[in-house]
Amino acid sequence: MESQDRTIPCPICQRANPFFDSLNRQINQTRAVTDKVYFARKLLAKAEDVLEEHGQAGDPAGKACRAVLNLRKQAAELILKAQKLAD
Ligand SMILES: [Zn+2]
Repeated sequence: MESQDRTIPCPICQRANPFFDSLNRQINQTRAVTDKVYFARKLLAKAEDVLEEHGQAGDPAGKACRAVLNLRKQAAELILKAQKLAD
């Protein structure tokens, strides 16, 4: 059996993860709706950038990365959607 190193992120994700962590922290800590929207938009844009950095959608090496990044995108989109509904 192959060893699983899913816990070790690829170099692209390794570089991007501190940025995501800090944005998520800011989203959780801030109470101002405008700030939450601001950070959620940044999170969404960054997730899209990092997804692009992973290249071809069919590349199995980046499959786990793309799944995580799509979840990050969905989380940011949910925040933006919720804020829109609250208006
Ligand atoms: Zn990655």
